[in-house]
Amino acid sequence: MVDTHQWCQNRNVTGRPRPSIAALPAYRPGRSAAAAEADHGVIDAVKLASNEAPFSPLPSVAEAISAGIGQVNLYPDHGAAALRSELAAHLNVASNQVTVGAGSAGILQQILLAYVAPGDAVAMCWPSFEAYPIFARLVEAEEIRVPLHDETFDLPALAAAITHQTKVAFVTNPNNPTGTVVPTAEIEMLLDAVPDTCIVVLDEAYAEFVDDPRVTDSTPLLADHPNLVITRTFSKAHGLAGLRVGYAYGSPEVIEMIDRTLAPFAVNDLAQRSARASLAAVDEMQSRVANVVVERDRVTETLRAAGWTTPNPQGNFVWLPVGALAADLGVALEQRGVVARAFPEVGVRVTISTETANDRFLEAILHAATDLGVVPR
Ligand SMILES: *Cc1c(COP(=O)(O)O)cnc(C)c1O
Repeated sequence: MVDTHQWCQNRNVTGRPRPSIAALPAYRPGRSAAAAEADHGVIDAVKLASNEAPFSPLPSVAEAISAGIGQVNLYPDHGAAALRSELAAHLNVASNQVTVGAGSAGILQQILLAYVAPGDAVAMCWPSFEAYPIFARLVEAEEIRVPLHDETFDLPALAAAITHQTKVAFVTNPNNPTGTVVPTAEIEMLLDAVPDTCIVVLDEAYAEFVDDPRVTDSTPLLADHPNLVITRTFSKAHGLAGLRVGYAYGSPEVIEMIDRTLAPFAVNDLAQRSARASLAAVDEMQSRVANVVVERDRVTETLRAAGWTTPNPQGNFVWLPVGALAADLGVALEQRGVVARAFPEVGVRVTISTETANDRFLEAILHAATDLGVVPR
């Protein structure tokens, strides 16, 4: 326990921050290409560190943004009514089963605010999305981290770790950073095993990239499980990460509780317009996604042919579970102008981008292996 009073005296800090916040590590975003260029004296670095889409906005999305520029003096629609009802139609659920937030990360934070009190528990498998533990600490929750099994969410172990104190459990499908999926049937078993006092958050940030037939539409699970909430985003497949808009859908009761925690006007008007335009152009979005999937499979085959082990990728990224080598591999890639995301002692995650950028990565990793004197595994 950090003693706030002493902490402030020792560090000469203004005010009296909550101890949980004073001790909180900041969210660490992927490094920029510019940072890598400055650190390693390289030019033309490519950033493959944040699972961003490599495309400029779809023409209809760019038009929607232009059309909205004249109205940025006005507050947006707080409830995002038009976007919500269009999402509901798209998902085939009722309008009161859908909500939108400032990115799905914003919604994840809202879910914990709505359901988790200090001392309650939040459960997840690990490694997974780095924002979960930060959000858990914001609400002073106890964290339960269950190890992945074969780089994959271990749902029986997660179910076994959930108690009546556990108010939220995360299931990330596909998982970030490992890219692996669990079959929908296993999620149903977890839901059957978990008490309904626990909200199960199914984080589907990368759902559009999945082609494993064991993963099917999770919407039908909502019928029997009002404690399930599914989150998705416009940041990844739709390529709108900079606009900050995501959505959640589930039972009307849960959606209403999430809504109560939304900061006023958190989803801006250009984001709402862009999301609506992107939803209306879902075929164009899907064809971009299909290109990413083709590239993902090409990169995976090339890596495996070179001797690297990588689990079957189902998002817009590949995962190299290199353990102790991770930090050095990250640096070696940066020295060759490729900014990936290294998780020290665990592995390296690399975003799938354009064919040219992916080739840069493949060439860099070939040389990095030589630089580091490692035989890939
Ligand atoms: C990227 C990501 C999100 C959040 O993205 P937003 O931009 O906040 O919508 C959520 N979950 C996972 C697992 C992610 O990788």
